[in-house]
Amino acid sequence: MTQTILCIDMESVLTPELWQAVAKGFWVEELMLTTKDIDDNKKLMEHRLKYLNENDITYSKMQEILSKVDLLPWALDFLNRARDKMQVIILSDTFIQLGKPFVQKLWNPTIFCHDLIVEDDKIVDYKFRIQDQKTQAVKRFKQLNFKTFATWDSFNDTGMIKEADAGCFFQPGKKATDAFPEIDIANDYEELKWYIDRFMEE
Ligand SMILES: [Mg+2]
Repeated sequence: MTQTILCIDMESVLTPELWQAVAKGFWVEELMLTTKDIDDNKKLMEHRLKYLNENDITYSKMQEILSKVDLLPWALDFLNRARDKMQVIILSDTFIQLGKPFVQKLWNPTIFCHDLIVEDDKIVDYKFRIQDQKTQAVKRFKQLNFKTFATWDSFNDTGMIKEADAGCFFQPGKKATDAFPEIDIANDYEELKWYIDRFMEE
């Protein structure tokens, strides 16, 4: 039997967009942009750091806002059902300092993500652990002889589909579906479960 890993994105799949929660918490419209708007992660982070600093949003203020943010409804239930059948790894372009409280709410699945650099309560920089880690991770799991199913919402994650054995979008933006009309779309967790079950039966 070949073992399967579900490679699942975090923001907009299991949790809300964390930076949008910060944007709403502090009324900073410029922080509403996500990878759905700017697909170059570096450019997006430069933009975010600029507006964090301009608005005096410290690391601790950000954490306080995020501590009030819940998982998406039914996310934990979905994840629990999924990990009955396969291993689950969250592949995310979030940062461990922001993602960790949500990982705890999800009963501590493994997460691969990046790092923020915080000095004197100010986010001064960030460090991408590796470029295009989602695609790279899926590639390595395959080399280790795992079957992989990938799911994500955004345009910039589509590199994973080329590597994964199967996958689908989860509630994607229009830009993503216009660019990749051939990729299946799950509109909710039931549909996502259906695509995964079909893949497992193959
Ligand atoms: Mg996402």
